[in-house]
Amino acid sequence: MTLPSEFLSDAKALLGEKGWRMDAESLEEAATPWRGTYQGQTPFIALPALTEQVSALVKLCQTHEVAITPQGGNTGLVDAGTPHGEITLSLRRMQAVRAIDPFNNSLTIEAGASLVTAQNAADDAKRLFPLSLGSEGTATIGGLISTNAGGVAVLRYGMMRDLILGLEVVLPSGEIWDGLSGLRKNNTGYDLKHLFAGAEGTLGIITAATLKLFPKVAKSTAWISCENAKAVVELLALTREHAGDTVTSFEIIPANAIEMVQSEMPDVRDPQPSDLPWRVLCEISMASETHARDVMETALQAAFESGLAADAIIAENLGQAKSFWAIRESIPLCKRAYGTAINHDISVPVSQIPGFLQQTETAIQQVSPGAEIIAFGHVGDGNLHYSACEPKDTPSQILAKHAAEITEIVHTQAMAFGGSISAEHGVGRLKRDELAAIRPAAATATMKAIKTALDPNGIMNPNRVVSVD
Ligand SMILES: Cc1cc2nc3c(=O)[nH]c(=O)nc-3n(C[C@H](O)[C@H](O)[C@H](O)COP(=O)(O)OP(=O)(O)OC[C@H]3O[C@@H](n4cnc5c(N)ncnc54)[C@H](O)[C@@H]3O)c2cc1C
Repeated sequence: MTLPSEFLSDAKALLGEKGWRMDAESLEEAATPWRGTYQGQTPFIALPALTEQVSALVKLCQTHEVAITPQGGNTGLVDAGTPHGEITLSLRRMQAVRAIDPFNNSLTIEAGASLVTAQNAADDAKRLFPLSLGSEGTATIGGLISTNAGGVAVLRYGMMRDLILGLEVVLPSGEIWDGLSGLRKNNTGYDLKHLFAGAEGTLGIITAATLKLFPKVAKSTAWISCENAKAVVELLALTREHAGDTVTSFEIIPANAIEMVQSEMPDVRDPQPSDLPWRVLCEISMASETHARDVMETALQAAFESGLAADAIIAENLGQAKSFWAIRESIPLCKRAYGTAINHDISVPVSQIPGFLQQTETAIQQVSPGAEIIAFGHVGDGNLHYSACEPKDTPSQILAKHAAEITEIVHTQAMAFGGSISAEHGVGRLKRDELAAIRPAAATATMKAIKTALDPNGIMNPNRVVSVD
């Protein structure tokens, strides 16, 4: 952790007075992730303001073999952006909107800008940048690309990878790759931008991106009660039969998650109290609000007639729609306050969700009787945030003792149902070894070969995604 004095003086000189921090408070903040379940450490925070400074710093790190952890909002959930002895390279000072081209439907923005900044820039130009997730005020464009983030509009617009047209990246050598193309068609060899999407900072530092924009849309948002998970899956298919690709979000919320949110946030009102175990938050988006509402009403009518929905309420205005979403988005925060939560981010084919839920809960109850299962999230993408929970005042505190067994059950079941143990949060240090053991050996070998070719000295966010021995 002690940095060479020559490195320190050269780094400070090239970054300038505002471009670095070494005070204890800043170092601790950079080394503490959002969830706070582990603590990292870092000797130095670099805060470059220009791509050329990033490049010069990376070259300096190569000379002195100093490892770097790139950091955006530090909201990642797999221990990838929290330094563990590396210097922290924060993109916080690189937030500029460089260009917006409404007729090309593209936005070029620096990597340290928050997702909300990108959404607002698009909105100002009467366009939509559709990525949306609970951490959007803090998560940055660089972090979102590096984790290939998902969120609540993947069903219609895809993941972050699908929303990139071009990138500017400082490679581990320090060389700048200017790939900021706004082209939608450009078949000129390996599509390098995709190497950096989901690479978690292990292959270089993204300094800017050109993103795809879309026409603005009006929304109709419904809160629907369903009797079981099978009905939820069939409701998705039926809604898409009526609304096609205009179904933008299809989120599942279990009744016990609403109770948990209300126990932590007593002012939150359940929009439609029901004894049924599942709610669906469904959003259809179209050019006209009236049209979106008509389609939603027709789809719900069909759902009532076929018995897939028992009850439903369509938001009358934006405020009411936001209050539905507030319940959904409060679940991660309330889980933290509620007590112990063993969290997972899995996906299975949508059709397999009912079987996965049933078998996984049965297996968990055998090792940890009474565990409360809270499975919520992006059911339209087959992606569940699956947690086994226990309130903090439970005297036995049995759940924490079985954390490893519970994770093994959830992951084994996800794989058995043809799924993934990392749907949208990524790999980091948290799932690196587990994934190395289950992904095809040829895939891990190829990933290692790419890492070694680009970063032979292993200075770029080492020990995340794949370990190179
Ligand atoms: C309340 C909450 C809700 C969330 N909801 C979702 C969700 O719905 N869907 C979802 O996918 N995720 C979700 N997340 C996870 C998280 O917000 C995303 O992973 C996000 O993409 C991380 O962005 P960040 O800027 O905070 O990146 P960090 O956490 O700072 O970093 C994440 C990774 O990216 C690397 N990195 C950061 N910036 C750069 C750069 N410029 N160049 C190269 N590498 C870089 C880091 O080294 C690290 O490996 C949620 C998190 C929270 C706290």
